[in-house]
Amino acid sequence: MNPRLVYFFLFLTFKLSSQEVYQRSFTKMGSDFELTVVADNPKSAEQLLAEGTAEIDRIERLISSWDPASETSEVNRMAGIAPVIVSKELFNLVQRSIALSRLTDGAFDISYASVDPIWTFNGQKVIPPNPEKIKASVAKIGFQKVQINLKENSIYLPEKGMKLGFGAIGKGYAADKVKQLLQTKGVKGGIVNASGDLSAWGTQPDGTSWQVGLVNPKNKNKVFAWFPIQDKAVVTSGDYERFLIMEGKRYGHIINPRTGYPSQGVISCTVFAPKAELADALATALFVLGVENGLYFVNQLPEVEAIMIDEEGKLHSSNNIEVDETI
Ligand code: ADP
Ligand code: MG
Repeated sequence: MNPRLVYFFLFLTFKLSSQEVYQRSFTKMGSDFELTVVADNPKSAEQLLAEGTAEIDRIERLISSWDPASETSEVNRMAGIAPVIVSKELFNLVQRSIALSRLTDGAFDISYASVDPIWTFNGQKVIPPNPEKIKASVAKIGFQKVQINLKENSIYLPEKGMKLGFGAIGKGYAADKVKQLLQTKGVKGGIVNASGDLSAWGTQPDGTSWQVGLVNPKNKNKVFAWFPIQDKAVVTSGDYERFLIMEGKRYGHIINPRTGYPSQGVISCTVFAPKAELADALATALFVLGVENGLYFVNQLPEVEAIMIDEEGKLHSSNNIEVDETI
């Protein structure tokens, strides 16, 4: 064998094995984030993790409907008044969100947020809200009504009180964007995890796949299944983090846009898809669609799988995933 080739091979193994996993955890977008990167040394890891964090900040400033300075807040403020010219990035995100609303037949609806002020999901007991108030808010929901103008990059919510909200897609979008950014910086493997909405690429330094554990919704300190993942997004929507109690019953923070009430019947839903943005929107939609309709829907979609858990703790999965029957 050519000795130079041997040398090259040895050098390469040395380089690969010197890579390590570095992590950073923080709270942004109201959620716990954890960034994981495979890097050569602590200094470059620090730099990469800082750039990933800054990217999340940037996205939050763009899409937050709580931050009055965001483009999203401006669109919401101008509802029923005038179209707002926005950045290409927000415009494209809204356009894709409308497409996802259509795909899910409005189970995920980017304009669900007019009902937001009615519900507070902080684990407390609440008195059922006035049904008339809910009806009036539901009348404002409707992704079909959102007017987007491709020529001038503008968005118009034609009725006063209409509101866009990225709660069900923003973390997925952020996970995809950070992954993309780190990949362009040459990071060969990593995971962006936004409270259970995650996007992974490459492998661990020793070449083995990343492992993703799915949290048991009845006991969030326990994991009920592990999956090896490579270049995939895994997103879980659960009712265990943000919920309220009404007339003795627990309700999670996903709203059925048709009724304006929190959806019932599903306590956890995990979606596997190529992109976290898609997986995030679908996980929310499946909650609203319920087990039967939700899995029927997922089984029509290429490269998408799902695991749903009903109120009795029974597991249900799409065609290409095998899971135990209960958690
Ligand atoms: P998680 O935060 O558990 O990952 P989701 O991704 O499902 O959950 O997002 C839930 C959030 O999405 C809610 O807090 C709310 O802001 C928003 N939301 C609730 N219902 C809907 C809906 N039907 N369509 C779009 N967004 C929704
Ligand atoms: Mg979601």
